[in-house]
Amino acid sequence: MKTVLKSIITCPNCGFQKEEEMPTTACHFFYECNSCKTILKPKEGDCCVFCSYGTVDCPPIQENKGCC
Ligand SMILES: [Zn+2]
Repeated sequence: MKTVLKSIITCPNCGFQKEEEMPTTACHFFYECNSCKTILKPKEGDCCVFCSYGTVDCPPIQENKGCC
């Protein structure tokens, strides 16, 4: 299985979508929406904004390494 490094984040506030490249070494806890400037934080139980709002889970989760 190949790890997907690109994820489309959807802002829960305004619905704006943007493709972002995910870092393999660190998770993104905070993400600022390019449209409405809301600072997104992971939902409870998720390790990063990609797991909460992205189209694919973050690389460590995809590789079954668990939360980073
Ligand atoms: Zn937004």
